[in-house]
Amino acid sequence: MKSSEPTFSFEFFPPKTPAGEQSLWQTIRRVEAVAPAFVSVTYGAGGSSRERTIETVDRIVHETTLRPVAHLTAVGHSVAELRAFIRQLADSGIKDVLALRGDPPGDPQGPWERHPEGFEHAADLVRLVKECGDFTVGVAAFPERHPRSVDWEADVRHFVAKCRAGADYAITQMFFRAEDYLRLRDRVAADGCDTPIIPEIMPATSASQIARFAALSNATLPDGLRAQLEAAAGDPALGHRIGVEHATALAADLLSEGAPGLHFITLNKSPAALEIYRELGLPRAAHLALSEQSALSTAA
Ligand code: FAD
Repeated sequence: MKSSEPTFSFEFFPPKTPAGEQSLWQTIRRVEAVAPAFVSVTYGAGGSSRERTIETVDRIVHETTLRPVAHLTAVGHSVAELRAFIRQLADSGIKDVLALRGDPPGDPQGPWERHPEGFEHAADLVRLVKECGDFTVGVAAFPERHPRSVDWEADVRHFVAKCRAGADYAITQMFFRAEDYLRLRDRVAADGCDTPIIPEIMPATSASQIARFAALSNATLPDGLRAQLEAAAGDPALGHRIGVEHATALAADLLSEGAPGLHFITLNKSPAALEIYRELGLPRAAHLALSEQSALSTAA
């Protein structure tokens, strides 16, 4: 997604229950009010949400004004299965894919095993999606390096190779310090790679949740933020306030440093993403004022 202006986008996951479906669609309608550049829908570990991912992007494309990006992971799939899924996306009118390798199902930190007729790395999936049609393809970036990589430099080299395989843009893993993003962006640029790297914004509103996410993602939670959240344990409203303030300041720094956009994690309900959006005064933020008032005042 190359654009001269920063792009603003939101991430959802495919719901499992009717209540989850309702929560997702309320969030989708709120997000629609700010006319984001795109919204993305995750693909459950090992393809566990395959049908729900396609149903969700299909509904978004046909029932909203939004541009959906379907996440797709290579893990556990043969190349023939991946091709069939990409064809299904194209038949639904979806033109955007976030091409990922995925993690082993069950234990995401367990040993990686390629499907015998599948791919070893996301770069192969990028090439396949591009071969299959006129898709815009995104990839994942890891400011603090991918947990399985030998070291940061090796990870950067593989990231640049993945971009050169045909990626149009990248979205980062969550991170909480602007310098982690800037270091990656500048190192990638020094290699002559100009693929836009969009920071993912995940507000840290509770110490326990973030410790779990950060362990899976390799993200460092700054000590000061961790101490504040620990002190706020048992007071969800205070945790929410701390998380929103930190994420708003981080997002503002990133934009002032020239980040090409922001991708907000919503967890399908989180009013925090829209609160940050509003506090930053981003395009059409005023459209949130009325519809969000009740949601924000009850934010957990
Ligand atoms: P790759 O780019 O293949 O990298 C994986 C590892 O292999 C890295 O350590 C890399 O350095 C190394 N590597 C790459 N190429 C080579 C090479 N040629 N030789 C040697 N080593 C190499 N997971 C899901 O299951 N569903 C989702 O919807 C989902 N969405 C995500 C969205 C974002 C924005 C991000 C950042 C991650 C997401 N993930 C998702 C998680 C992702 O699938 C995992 O982090 C996975 O472990 C790595 O995927 P990748 O696409 O970066 O893999």
